[in-house]
Amino acid sequence: MTEPTAAVRDRVLSLSPGELPAYVYDLTALRAHAAAVRARLPERVELYYAAKANPEPEILAALSSYVDGYEVASGGELVHVAKAVPGRPLAFGGPGKTPAEIVTALELGVRRFHVESEYELRMLAELARQVGPDGRIAVLPRFNLPVAGSSLAASSLAMGGRPSPFGLDPAQADTVMRLLTDGSCPHLELVGVHAHLASGLRAPEQLGLAESVVDWAVRLAERHGVRLAEVNVGGGMTVDYAASEERFDWAAYGAGLAELLARHPDLTLRIEPGRSLTAYCGWYATEVLDVKPSHGEEFAVVRGGTHHLRTPATKGHDQPCTLLRVEDWPHPWARPVAGGELVTLTGQLCTPKDVLARNVPAPALRAGDRVAFGLAGAYAWNISHHDFLMHPRPGFHFLGT
Ligand SMILES: *Cc1c(COP(=O)(O)O)cnc(C)c1O
Repeated sequence: MTEPTAAVRDRVLSLSPGELPAYVYDLTALRAHAAAVRARLPERVELYYAAKANPEPEILAALSSYVDGYEVASGGELVHVAKAVPGRPLAFGGPGKTPAEIVTALELGVRRFHVESEYELRMLAELARQVGPDGRIAVLPRFNLPVAGSSLAASSLAMGGRPSPFGLDPAQADTVMRLLTDGSCPHLELVGVHAHLASGLRAPEQLGLAESVVDWAVRLAERHGVRLAEVNVGGGMTVDYAASEERFDWAAYGAGLAELLARHPDLTLRIEPGRSLTAYCGWYATEVLDVKPSHGEEFAVVRGGTHHLRTPATKGHDQPCTLLRVEDWPHPWARPVAGGELVTLTGQLCTPKDVLARNVPAPALRAGDRVAFGLAGAYAWNISHHDFLMHPRPGFHFLGT
C-alpha cells in the first residue's frame, strides 16, 4: 500500500464525483523528497531532472531549488521546460533531433547537448557555426556501452550493450573523439561522456554501472590525450511498484559515488533521474462506479482508467492503491457491494487491457467508495492515450504550491 499523505486524502475526499478522476500532486512531499536526495549526493555530483518522467510546470518549478538543471529530450520539452523554469540550465538529449529543434535549442540558450550519433554531431557542429552562439557548446557524446552483470542485462528497460537506436556504438568512439578534438568542430567543446543504459536499477547495480562507465570514459580520454571534466551516468534509479514502500537507497548510492569521485579528483559526475524523483508525489484518485461478480471473481469499475494512468498496462503491474470508504450514498437505487475479499479494479474503457490493479484486498468495497492509486507522479498521465473513448479528462490538483 502507498498511503496518500493527509493533504492528498483530504483533497480526494472533498472532491465531488463530477470532479473525479483527479491527479493530486503533493508538492510539499516532492520538495522534501528532492531535498533528501540532494542531501545524500556528494558535492561533485550534479543532479538533472529528466523532464519526460513528468513535465507538469508545477512539478518542474517545485524541483527547481534542488536540481542543477533539466534534461529535455525533444523540441517540445525544450520549449516547455524553458518556459516553466526560465533561466535554468537545460541539457538537450534524445535520439532523432531535427535541425529545427537544434536551432531552437541554440537560440533558447541551451549550451549542453548529449549527442546521439556521428551524423548528429556533424549537424550540430554546422548549425552551431551558423547560429554563432556566444561561447562554445558543451558536448557529451552518448555511448551505448556494454552493461556488465546478468541482473543488469535482464532489466526490463535495459537499452545498453545490445543493438538499440540510443547513443553511439563504442566502435565509433575514436572517430567521434577525433572530430571533437582535431579542430573540425570549433564551436563545440568535448566536456565528457554520457551513458544512460537502463532503468529500474537498485543502488548496487547503479554504482556498478557508474563505475564501469567512468572507467571506460577515462580510458577513452587517455587514449586521445584529452581531459574529461564530466561523466553523465544517466537516470534509471528504480521505482518498485510491487514493493512501493521500498525506495531507492540514495544514501548508499551517494556514498558509493563519493568513493568513485575520490579516485577521480578532477571529475564531476552528473545523474539525470526521472521516475525516482517524482513517482511518489502523485496520486490518481477516483471513485468506484460499479461492483460485480464475474465467473468467480469480483470486479470494480472505477471512473477513469488506463487512458489516464497507462502505467500498469504498459508495465504489466498492479498499481498500488489505497481504498477510502465513503458512507454517503445519495441514490435511491441499491448500492452494489463486493461479496469476496479480493477485487480487480478496472476502468471505463471497452478493452480487457483496462486493468489498474488485480486482486486488491477490498472486502465489502462499494460503489461510491474512493480509490487513490499511488506512484502516479511519473510516466502516468503524460504517457497515457487520453482521447481513446472520449471520456472527460481528469482534474489536476497541486497541493503545497
Ligand atoms: C528516460 C531517461 C532518463 C530518466 O530515466 P528514469 O528511469 O525516469 O530515471 C534519463 N536519461 C535519459 C537519456 C533518458 O532517456
